[in-house]
Amino acid sequence: MKKIFFTPGPSHLYSTLSRHIKTALTEDVLSISHRGEKFHLLLENLQNNLRVLLDIPKDHQIFFISSGTEAMEVTIRNCVQKNSFHLINGAFSQRFFEISQALNKEAQATMITELSEVKDLKVNSQTELICITQNETSTGYQVPIEFIYKIKNKYPNCLLALDTVSSMPYVDLNYSLTDVVFFSVQKCFGLPSGLGVMIVSPQAIDKARYLLENNYDVGVIHNFTKLSKAMQKLETVETPNIFALYLMEKVTNDFLQIGINNLRQETEVKAKLLYDFFDNQAGFDISIKDKRYQSQTVIVINAETNKLNGIKEIELRNNIVIGRGYGIYKDKQLRVANFFTHSIADVERLLRLIKS
Ligand SMILES: *Cc1c(COP(=O)(O)O)cnc(C)c1O
Repeated sequence: MKKIFFTPGPSHLYSTLSRHIKTALTEDVLSISHRGEKFHLLLENLQNNLRVLLDIPKDHQIFFISSGTEAMEVTIRNCVQKNSFHLINGAFSQRFFEISQALNKEAQATMITELSEVKDLKVNSQTELICITQNETSTGYQVPIEFIYKIKNKYPNCLLALDTVSSMPYVDLNYSLTDVVFFSVQKCFGLPSGLGVMIVSPQAIDKARYLLENNYDVGVIHNFTKLSKAMQKLETVETPNIFALYLMEKVTNDFLQIGINNLRQETEVKAKLLYDFFDNQAGFDISIKDKRYQSQTVIVINAETNKLNGIKEIELRNNIVIGRGYGIYKDKQLRVANFFTHSIADVERLLRLIKS
């Protein structure tokens, strides 16, 4: 029996993937030239799908790179001459902060969990870029979208970068208030890993060009200026992951067919099932108490040791894989992925098994 993965990434593949993988082979997609007509068309269709699905404005550009982690580095190099500011809510926002430090920037950080309101936030006046991990996969802490827009309104001259790796395409953004939004595809898209996507504003493109022209190290291969030039010709800087791009084009078609609002609503229904269940289950405890900050796509649960042992049994007997806590929380928490690939029936089955 095939396994079902409730892990937060890589996760369970989207249900249509096995069909699309077969078609990729029969259509010889994996051997086409990345400079040919067929590839141009693929890239164009994929971009159009993403624009419709996520409602991306015309003046924002879409770039394809290799991962979410790479996106952090590309973002810092291309948007920061000297000063970045980071809101920390777990290990991935910490990684973003450390990448900025490693690039010799003056990176400042504040724990978002200690802020109750945007008016308490103090970002120093030199700041060029504010970095927020909208959905922190390590802790299950989501930053409410209104909170993010308030920050942009408070600091309109700072660029704003959002890591949405584990919430896209569930998260519904107004891109005119963001400068860099990035994600990879092995989480909520239900695709194999190895592809990162960046959605970049004209202001961020301008900043990157300014830095390039003034001899700052914006990166040689994946800088915004080069990525943008290639994309205008419907090309990529390198021979890209054509397989991943192909599968993403197919899966975004499937999402469009079902309707993004339906998928988003279903995600919220499943999140409620999960939170309500663990709220009432002895030996388990929801890690993020305040509902506003509870991630809809990665549900983090504190669990007693005997409960975790029980979960191990359930996994073995039923071909289920559930995520464990991140880092030091490995033996203390569960992280349950709630992505588009997980149906309401899948979640109900999971909860039935845990209950018994
Ligand atoms: C998984 C994850 C990343 C890292 O993405 P990769 O594609 O694995 O490099 C970054 N940020 C968040 C919030 C993540 O969940």
